[in-house]
Amino acid sequence: MAKLIDGKAVAAKVRADIAQEVQTLKKLGVTPGLAVVIVGDDPASRTYVNNKKKACAEVGIYSEEYALPATTKQSELMQLVETLNRKKEIDGILVQSPLPNGLNEEAVVEAINPEKDVDAFHPSNVGRIMIGKYHFLPCTPAGVIELLHSEEIEISGKNCVVVGRSNIVGKPMAMLLLHQNGTVTICHSKTKNLTELCKSADILVAVVGKPNFITADMVKPGAVVIDVGINRNPQGKLCGDVDFASVEKIASYLTPVPGGVGPMTIAMLLKNTVTAAKMHHGITE
Ligand code: NDP
Repeated sequence: MAKLIDGKAVAAKVRADIAQEVQTLKKLGVTPGLAVVIVGDDPASRTYVNNKKKACAEVGIYSEEYALPATTKQSELMQLVETLNRKKEIDGILVQSPLPNGLNEEAVVEAINPEKDVDAFHPSNVGRIMIGKYHFLPCTPAGVIELLHSEEIEISGKNCVVVGRSNIVGKPMAMLLLHQNGTVTICHSKTKNLTELCKSADILVAVVGKPNFITADMVKPGAVVIDVGINRNPQGKLCGDVDFASVEKIASYLTPVPGGVGPMTIAMLLKNTVTAAKMHHGITE
C-alpha cells in the first residue's frame, strides 16, 4: 500500500515557519501585504479567495480584498492593478482566475508588476523560471516539490512524467522537476502511448482535470504518484485525477485529494508574499 503524503501536515509546517519569519520582519518594521482581486461571483473562486485571506491572517500577513462585479470593464481592472502596483503596503498582487468572459486575463497578468506577481504567472517570471533565476516559483508546482522533499524522495536522475501542459501548472511543474535533475516527459491530449509513458515514470504527476484518469495499469509498481487534480465526481464529491483505490495498492507514495497538493498551493503563496516583501525592502535574509 502506498504511503499517503500528508499535504495538510507539510503545509502546516511551512505556514508555521512563515509565521515566524513574518514576526521577525514585523520587528524590522515590515509587514508583508497581499492584495487579492476577485471579479464576479464564481463560488469556487470565492472559496479560494476566502481561504487565501484566512491563511494570510493566520501567519500575520496583511491582506486586502477587492471584490468587483462581473460587469467590471477591462480598463477598470487594469486601473486597479496599476493602483496596487504603486501601493506601498502591498507586496503581492493576486488576481483570482478565471475572470468572467469578456475580460482579458493575459493583459491583466502582464499589467502586474513582476516583483509583485506572487502567482509567478507574468511572462517575465515565467522566463526567469525557464533560466532558473527566479524570484518566485508558481505556487502549485513549488508545493509539489516541497511535498517530494518532505518525504526525501529523490528526483535527480528519475524518470518524471507530467500529464498536462497548462501554463499555470503542467509546464512549470515539468521545469521544476528538470531543475531538480529529473528526466522529464510532458504528456498531453495528443500524446500517443500515454499508458506506456506513464508506466515508465518513477514520479508521475497528474495535472489533467479529469476524475479517475490515471488508473493502476498506467502506474509502475513502486512509483511516486502526485495528484494535482481537483475535480468533482458524479456524486459531487471532491476527487483528484488519480483512481485512488487502485493506484494506492501499487504506488510507493500517493497524494490524497483533498489534503495533498491543495494545501501546499496556499502555503507557497504565503511564502512568495514574504519573499516579495523582503525584496521590496531590500532584506536579503
Ligand atoms: P487545463 O485544463 O488547463 O490543462 C489540462 C491538461 O490536461 C492539458 O494540457 C490537456 O492537454 C491535458 N489533457 C486533457 N485530456 C487529456 C488526455 N486525454 N490525455 C492526456 N492529457 C490530457 O487544467 P489545469 O492545468 O489548469 O488544471 C488541471 C487540474 O489541476 C484541474 O483539476 C485543476 O482544478 C487542478 N488544479 C489544482 C491546483 C491545486 O492547488 N491542487 C491548482 C491548479 C489546478 P492539451 O494541452 O493537449 O489540451
